Amino acid sequence: MTSPSIVWFRQDLRLADQAAVAAAHAGGPWIGVYVLDDETAEHRAMGAAQRWWLHHSLTSLGRDLAGKGGRLVLRRGRAADELDKVAGAIGADTVHALRHYEPWWKQAETALPPGLTLRLYDGNRLAPPEGVLTGSRGRYRIFTPYWRALKEQMPPCRPQPAPKEVNAPHVGIAEASLADWDLLPTCPDWAGGFAIWTPGEAGAREALDQFLPVLDHYDTDRDRPSVEGTSRLSPHLHFGEISPATLWYRAAGQARGKAEPWLRQLGWRDFCANIIDILPDYGDTNGRELWDSMAWRQGAAADRDFRAWTRGRTGYPIVDAGMRELWATGFMHNRVRMIAASFLIKHLLIDWRRGERWFWDTLVDADHGSNAVNWQWVAGTGVDSNPFGRIMAPLVQSPKFDAGGYIRSWVSELSDVEGEAIHDPYGAGLAPSGYPPPIIGHREARERALAAKTGI
Ligand SMILES: Cc1cc2nc3c(=O)[nH]c(=O)nc-3n(C[C@H](O)[C@H](O)[C@H](O)COP(=O)(O)OP(=O)(O)OC[C@H]3O[C@@H](n4cnc5c(N)ncnc54)[C@H](O)[C@@H]3O)c2cc1C
Repeated sequence: MTSPSIVWFRQDLRLADQAAVAAAHAGGPWIGVYVLDDETAEHRAMGAAQRWWLHHSLTSLGRDLAGKGGRLVLRRGRAADELDKVAGAIGADTVHALRHYEPWWKQAETALPPGLTLRLYDGNRLAPPEGVLTGSRGRYRIFTPYWRALKEQMPPCRPQPAPKEVNAPHVGIAEASLADWDLLPTCPDWAGGFAIWTPGEAGAREALDQFLPVLDHYDTDRDRPSVEGTSRLSPHLHFGEISPATLWYRAAGQARGKAEPWLRQLGWRDFCANIIDILPDYGDTNGRELWDSMAWRQGAAADRDFRAWTRGRTGYPIVDAGMRELWATGFMHNRVRMIAASFLIKHLLIDWRRGERWFWDTLVDADHGSNAVNWQWVAGTGVDSNPFGRIMAPLVQSPKFDAGGYIRSWVSELSDVEGEAIHDPYGAGLAPSGYPPPIIGHREARERALAAKTGI
């Protein structure tokens, strides 16, 4: 009789086009295991918004597996230890898993006991980043040439369907209950606004179905936060509830040549994994050492400004709308992420790492590679970055990208402000009740930031 194997689910909580599932399935009986491992990840343990998502995504995966006769075992502790115990209980000697690029996953892999064979498969990226190489077989650190080289490897392999039935071993195994993990907030329950999301594989497919009809307009609408012009697939992608190959084929099939601007964003996602594969500390360390001597503001005044930023009370409506959307839903539109991040770093002169940590805790799509690369890109500290001196002007960006409707829906104190005044109410001579004046003037902030930069 074939001995059972384990599928180690991580950021790949799906059954369709999941190469580890397919391999285990082809080999005989198997069970799925998810280990909540905060120990190996240390300070990179999942943030609060992601824990909410994880709870629902695991519920969905467990239900899907059970519907096919399979089983998802939940454990908590060091992944290597827990996998070893489950393997011992069912007599497994093989663990199948998809490949990930976060340093803590690699660490957990190397900690597996020698008696357990780990088989790793690709499938959570368009192409494995370690295979997208320069002419001299080096790694790329700049996006545009990376994307060019990646495209040469496209299309990805055709997505494979989920197994129709799963043959799971009938063995008693101690397992944790999701309810005991306290992944959902209770006191207070701040996740009311998260009801817009449907975590899980079916929810990911639904989000894709909703987005495809507007894909043709992506290039013109993607920067307009008042319009639903982007896919909102990022948390589904982070948790691996849908494969990039599935997205590639559906998008290219739907929009043909017009799919390129959107597929390029999936390329950015791959590039971010490429960077943390080369520079695992990228969320904590400047990409260029020069920036280690930057005199970011610290102390009580900086703390007060940071708090105002997190609460959406900077007096810059576009920034405040974004920060409130983030708090309420765990998400922020990409254009607004760039404006809000730039505001923290350049207008408030606060270290990008404080913002990165805030996003880590509050985003449902918080992703080590994507968060770190984007923060460093905005800050100008990274290996591929926007120059620091290019300072975004929120009061210009807001009308340029027609953010009025977005601001009215997120900043209740401004919901009645009409016309162009919505972008800069105090500048238009209004003093909306309960809404603060700008925390700092744009020109003053710009001069302070540029002066600080000359000091490094
Ligand atoms: C400061 C800052 C922090 C960010 N932190 C994260 C993060 O933690 N996790 C995250 O997934 N994205 C992050 N992004 C990138 C981007 O904002 C989100 O991926 C995007 O807003 C998700 O919305 P969407 O799914 O509708 O994207 P779409 O526009 O529909 O794009 C499709 C997919 O491409 C990927 N993608 C799009 N833009 C980027 C990008 N700039 N970098 C990497 N991948 C991208 C995402 O997986 C996204 O779901 C950050 C951007 C900034 C400026």
